[in-house]
Amino acid sequence: MTATVIDGKAFAAKVRGQVADGVAKLKEAHGITPGLAVVLVGEDPASQVYVRSKGKMTVEVGMASFEHRLDADTPEADLLAVIERLNADPAVHGILVQLPLPAHLDSDQVINSIDPAKDVDGFHISNVGLLGTGQKSMVPCTPLGCLMMLRDYHGSLSGMTAVVIGRSNIVGKPMAQLLLGDSCTVTIAHSRTKDLAAVVRQADIVVAAVGRAQMVTGDWIKPGATVIDVGINRIDNPDGGTRLVGDADYESCAAVAGAITPVPGGVGPMTIACLLANTLTACCRANGLPEPEGLTA
Ligand code: NAD
Repeated sequence: MTATVIDGKAFAAKVRGQVADGVAKLKEAHGITPGLAVVLVGEDPASQVYVRSKGKMTVEVGMASFEHRLDADTPEADLLAVIERLNADPAVHGILVQLPLPAHLDSDQVINSIDPAKDVDGFHISNVGLLGTGQKSMVPCTPLGCLMMLRDYHGSLSGMTAVVIGRSNIVGKPMAQLLLGDSCTVTIAHSRTKDLAAVVRQADIVVAAVGRAQMVTGDWIKPGATVIDVGINRIDNPDGGTRLVGDADYESCAAVAGAITPVPGGVGPMTIACLLANTLTACCRANGLPEPEGLTA
């Protein structure tokens, strides 16, 4: 079997198009422009790239983009004061604090100071609790993107067996909650799971969110299963240079799976598209307007 490639780049462009339509309608009918504020503390090069591309795409879908760049040694009180101002600003509907934060800052404290209604990353404990209890919440962008791709490919996920590899708060745990919400039978595997290959072999849906290059090989995959590869790992090429690979060994998994997301061009582009979708959703909720269809969990 050769797997269908789930084209996250194309799907993300479609989602951004839906967001842009929603933004245009909000402007036209209500004179409202959704706004996304991104806060970056320090000079981390990867974070700078992410923030730049988030800002660019925010503007491309017609939203207002606000960037706050703070020095690496910014005291926590100053960062909290910035967030407090953004919480109170009616032009800002979404707030994202780029992680990781410098070591002297308490990430939990900072994230939990964001107004949950503006927490477009879905990391605030209120949103985590709402998601865990099946209530309306802001859903973390990466798992939301994975869920959208799965729903688009399969239609209903009800009754499917899903294995999520990784138990982080930003990917693994919320992913498992979302799959449970769509009535999958869910297993969360992690670094202490015994005989991981055998666990993964049970799955109709495998979500790999580990951060270990090409760890999941084709012999772990049930024939016809869907593999969603969240991992982003840089490895050396045999003939020099480097390249990005996922947590799945693409060639061997694609030979067995029914469908697979590539790296790059799979989950990655969906994450930013879902950030924009969440900002639109937050803006609609803040204004008591109906939420855009198909852009939330
Ligand atoms: P993390 O380091 O917080 O968590 C990794 C998880 O993998 C842990 O729960 C750990 O228990 C598990 N794990 C580690 N070694 C394992 C092993 N040998 N077997 C089974 N499980 C093991 O990472 P994260 O933030 O969840 O990110 C995971 C990966 O996804 C990383 O490569 C990251 O770069 C990537 N990522 C991609 C996007 C995107 O937009 N595509 C977004 C977030 C994270």
